[in-house]
Amino acid sequence: MRLFLLVLLSATLAAAWPAAAVDPQKYFKEYLDSLIGKKYWLREAVNSSPKVYCYTEEVETYFVREFSALYRLSRKVEVTIEKVEYDEAYNFVSMTFKHRKMGYGAITFHWPEDVTPSVLSLESMIRYAFSETEDGDDFKSYVGNNLSRVLHYAGCNHLPPGQYREEFKTVEEAEEKEYKQCNLCFANYPRIPEYELEMYLGRKTLGNVLGQYKFSPNQSLSKLVKEVGYGILENWPYTLRGYNYSFDVLASREVNAYACPGGRIFVHSGLLNVIESVNELEAVLAHEIAHVERRHGLRQVKRREKVAFWSSLAAELAGKIVVDKTGGFEGKNMFLWFINDLSALANQIVMQGYSRENEQEADIYAINYMKKVRNDDISHILFEKKAQYHANLMGHIEDETDKPLLRSHPYADYRIQLAENARIEDFGAGLTFRGYDKDGEMVAELVLESQCVTKVITRVETSRPALTSYYAVGKGYREKTMDRLYLFGTIRTTAALSDSCEMKDIKIKCGDSKIKLDNKEDTILFPLYETGCAFERNTDKLLECIDGIELKLPGVKQWRKED
Ligand SMILES: [Zn+2]
Ligand SMILES: [Zn+2]
Repeated sequence: MRLFLLVLLSATLAAAWPAAAVDPQKYFKEYLDSLIGKKYWLREAVNSSPKVYCYTEEVETYFVREFSALYRLSRKVEVTIEKVEYDEAYNFVSMTFKHRKMGYGAITFHWPEDVTPSVLSLESMIRYAFSETEDGDDFKSYVGNNLSRVLHYAGCNHLPPGQYREEFKTVEEAEEKEYKQCNLCFANYPRIPEYELEMYLGRKTLGNVLGQYKFSPNQSLSKLVKEVGYGILENWPYTLRGYNYSFDVLASREVNAYACPGGRIFVHSGLLNVIESVNELEAVLAHEIAHVERRHGLRQVKRREKVAFWSSLAAELAGKIVVDKTGGFEGKNMFLWFINDLSALANQIVMQGYSRENEQEADIYAINYMKKVRNDDISHILFEKKAQYHANLMGHIEDETDKPLLRSHPYADYRIQLAENARIEDFGAGLTFRGYDKDGEMVAELVLESQCVTKVITRVETSRPALTSYYAVGKGYREKTMDRLYLFGTIRTTAALSDSCEMKDIKIKCGDSKIKLDNKEDTILFPLYETGCAFERNTDKLLECIDGIELKLPGVKQWRKED
């Protein structure tokens, strides 16, 4: 029935080649050509698998979604088919399509070696990938096994035999009939943008950890850390991004813990030897989870270069060679440099922790978590003090600013001061602001999660010359304590963001007044992007109210506060 409908839609085709008198190969070729210029809605991804199995005319075929910004969408977008070609040698059709703002995507449709591709089977596969309208169609993306009562994705490879299948359009429909989601089809692999890049950095960091340490053989320690870790995730006050977490103990006397980007968290057994309560461990793990959820690894990568770099790198990954205005830059070098830089960052995460800004953000999230969930404002500070004392025992005192390699657990004084003075207001489920373009289409969403005023130490230049390293004399610095307000949130963009851009300062409207806060990171945004962000201002006052915001993003005409 459905296939028939599609055939009808390609009416010109049907009229030109009546079924009885056609050369099938010519018919197939003409069908491919007829697809060019068509507009379809690319379906949202049910899971993260790029390979989708289809059942067409009793044959198992499949298609592969080639990596691009147009893959792993969480909602439908309209694309135009630009190129369709059949590769006879390997028996597949490749299709290239374009979204007006997110650029190109591609899908290859494959048949088994001994099966001749037909118009009907290709139409059927296309229905797995696209719908004809934004609202969708009657395609059923889910298939229940009515013996096991397990619900699968229609594009998986383990559907039950035909007589046991029950098809559903939505998960809710199936759940009403008491189907349970398949643990494979609905595996919780995040569908957040740049997950691959983050995981790559995570693996590099993991390599650095496992290259230096062994797992602790103590099973009860490892059980405790897992219990506390997963417990925090259950109580985490904000929407989790869906990372696959694990918690392990390393055999080492160091009082330290790491979070690899993507969710692998390690605690040294030395740290577990010095804690006196489960709450102290909980404070440590909440800090590490904050590094992951706030995407600190990815944010540090992004901070290193500006938008132009990322656009060129994306162009290069798409197979283009980039030459800059002076004609001096070549794409491949840029990619190699980028990979080396990621390795250096992964090493730094293990040796010295994240950047100072990211560490304090993780601290504030941990302090807020302990206060909100455990009503405990002691354990976090107690642990920070132990970390400081441990550093003292190793021969480190606080004035280490000129010898970064010795900062095994950096800024202990600074972090204690921050923790002791933190006044945090948590916004519960978050204050949501949506930015719309002139046509009323949503371009971005900013969810504000909490604000915090605390005392921070900043370095200011002095006129007195000082030894800046073991071999050079330069400008001297002294440390100065200041009051600072932080506002934390998550920014998400849609496909309607017209260009990559930097998100700079924000103005908060409260009654008649407007208060400007700075985004030190100048967060780089792309269409369909999602990341944590922080705004700040030197003041000792929390924001009294947040009635509205002013935030410049390309295309956004108006921000509205949502209920
Ligand atoms: Zn399944
Ligand atoms: Zn940290």
